[in-house]
Amino acid sequence: MFFRENNPNFIASFDFYKIELISFCIMEDLKKYFLGQFDLYQIDGNLFSEERQINFDKLKIDSREKEVLVSVLKEKNATLDEVKIITKGLRESLKEHNLNYYERGVTKIPDYDYDVLYKILKNLEELINETVPTSITQRIGFNPLKDKGKSKKKYETSTKYFQTFDHLFKMYSLDNSYSKEDIDDWELKNQKNLGLTNIEFVCELKYDGASISLQYVNGELFQALTRGDGNSGEDVTENIKTINSIPKKLIGDFPSSFFVRGEIVLPLSGFAKINQERLEAGEQVYMNPRNTASGTLKLKNPLEAAKRPLEFLIYSVIMDRSINVYFDNHFESLEKAKKWGFNVPYQSKLCKSSNEVMEFINYWNTERHDLPYETDGVVVKVNNLHFQDELGFTAKSPRWAIAYKFKAEQVSTKLNSISYQVGRTGAITPVANLKPVQLAGTTVKRASLHNADQIEKLDIRVGDEVFVEKGGEIIPKIIGVDFSKRSLDLLPTKYITHCPECHTELVRNAGEANHYCPNFYGCPPQIIGRIQHYISRKAMDIEGLGGETVALLFKNGLVHNYADLYELKVEDILHLERMAKKSAENLVNGVQKSIEIPFESVLFALGIRFVGETVAKKLAKHYKNITALSQASLMELILVDEIGERIARSVIEFFENEENQKIIERLKSYGVQFEIVEKINPNATEKFIGKTFVVSGVFAQFSRDELKKTIEDNGGKVGSSISAKTDFVVAGDNMGPAKLEKANKLNIPILSEEDFITKLNESE
Ligand SMILES: [Zn+2]
Repeated sequence: MFFRENNPNFIASFDFYKIELISFCIMEDLKKYFLGQFDLYQIDGNLFSEERQINFDKLKIDSREKEVLVSVLKEKNATLDEVKIITKGLRESLKEHNLNYYERGVTKIPDYDYDVLYKILKNLEELINETVPTSITQRIGFNPLKDKGKSKKKYETSTKYFQTFDHLFKMYSLDNSYSKEDIDDWELKNQKNLGLTNIEFVCELKYDGASISLQYVNGELFQALTRGDGNSGEDVTENIKTINSIPKKLIGDFPSSFFVRGEIVLPLSGFAKINQERLEAGEQVYMNPRNTASGTLKLKNPLEAAKRPLEFLIYSVIMDRSINVYFDNHFESLEKAKKWGFNVPYQSKLCKSSNEVMEFINYWNTERHDLPYETDGVVVKVNNLHFQDELGFTAKSPRWAIAYKFKAEQVSTKLNSISYQVGRTGAITPVANLKPVQLAGTTVKRASLHNADQIEKLDIRVGDEVFVEKGGEIIPKIIGVDFSKRSLDLLPTKYITHCPECHTELVRNAGEANHYCPNFYGCPPQIIGRIQHYISRKAMDIEGLGGETVALLFKNGLVHNYADLYELKVEDILHLERMAKKSAENLVNGVQKSIEIPFESVLFALGIRFVGETVAKKLAKHYKNITALSQASLMELILVDEIGERIARSVIEFFENEENQKIIERLKSYGVQFEIVEKINPNATEKFIGKTFVVSGVFAQFSRDELKKTIEDNGGKVGSSISAKTDFVVAGDNMGPAKLEKANKLNIPILSEEDFITKLNESE
């Protein structure tokens, strides 16, 4: 091993902000190396061009690359821990570049540099023998050599892209229309072109999501391509497979090869949930469901994508109809697709005339607000597929379809005042107080102004007539000012410099959009917010205590932090407004009961900035108790999987604070859980060690999970399917006949529930 011994002082003084810088230094060295050997660089540039022999060259380059990397690290006299930190830092930094590219639409690094950094990361991971499942180097199912059929276009050498393939049938965009006249004109044109007067149409809602084209071969999902530029799109099959409403295997009588197209949408509830979680973790919220949906499709890690509740709504079935005729019209094709297992929106409707089309449009123009997804219009299609063929396409769009765009949900109203809210983390949110106005079926009085930059950019002034829009956001937002109505005496908005609640001077960290009130322990809304977070359902889940009561308790001087809750007595709170004896008792009991809440939830409840539910779970699992966590160094924290520098610094800061230390000591004294309690089962034995069981059917004395747990508690393993490695099958009622047959074939003993219990009770 070439690493020198650990030097604790050096590690302590290691500047974490320089991680990427160091990586870039290594990269510069590597670049010099490559550029000095021009031939090799050229080959590298064409690494995946065609021929196999070049791949051998690639192997050579990779090993030399590693040599250089090692020599650079040697020169820098790096220890193993330092290399681990560099590796981790680089992993985070590349993840960030990916996020920038796919979710925020910005590129902060040239492609070539990205590729080199990626290679360095891969090499470093190999060097220190570290595989991290969430690393971008561990993308699942990505195999550049796998042939995806004849439509293969090119393989990008850049690891930043998904593979691109041509669409066998071009993905056109639609012409837009905005009025009844537009629709009438379009109908007339079609009548003329076809020489007919009676044309049937299909109306469908136009969902606001990411268009996708799915190819099915022999009833199985073969490939998913994004719309791209219409001619070719990116292969996002692995991410698409994580969406439940996309059938992986079809049912019934389907063509051997065909395409379906539709929209990948994020339901508004799912969008709100994702943003709620980001808010709780103190992160920036996403702007709208559509961008979040298309960003999700391009996440490098399908496991991440699987966490987003995306849905697929189909809008067309495409196949070569010269080979087989499965339907004659569009409406029928949707009906068929439904039978094969696709999610066809129920709203689609067959219409006999442009008048019926307008009825559909007018109906959904108001009803759309109750839909679970965002929709921005209606698509009208000529139903008969022969007519569609006859009408054909322009260069840009089909003549047989047109989109009707709903009017943007936008109104203008007067901005009465701007108020500033202080969140539990101290973040300041400017809120517009508006003259009440009707928008999208609700009365709007307030709207989001996001932050100081936004106000300045739009030059929003109190007294202005402003445009308000409602999209997928939780509260409506102001998108601009009607300058034609601005009176001359309005003054530019001066953003507040001091906290509206505690009058502390605000701070704004470099690179952050929001201002913060730094008076963490003295600012009332922060204190109340923290206690409200502490008692919330996903945290300590305290029954009998709500957010308003917390504010009331604080205002009456009864609580100053969440530890004070445990000191509350019934007689203290009886005199509060709306507090009866029963509810006071419930409150005190609820607080006492919260000492049973497990450590991971307690850790989340503490409200450490950037420590959301998932991070809290990770930390709890890793450190097992609060003492170990509070003593962890920055470096140790960063080495925990998925814990980045930002989170690590926040955790350190939290535990360094004496006030927090006192609060935690007090919580401990009340009995709150600060360690993971390993459940010790007194019945556990090792009698099943080395044995694999498969459990099938329904049982009388156990639930299936209980049965599995019993096997594991006694040292056995539970397999998911019967194979030669299975030792026993435990069969309940209704065991599948296929399983039974397989077990018999492999001569595996089958235990009834009674047999199993007998076996369990046998002495060892
Ligand atoms: Zn304040």
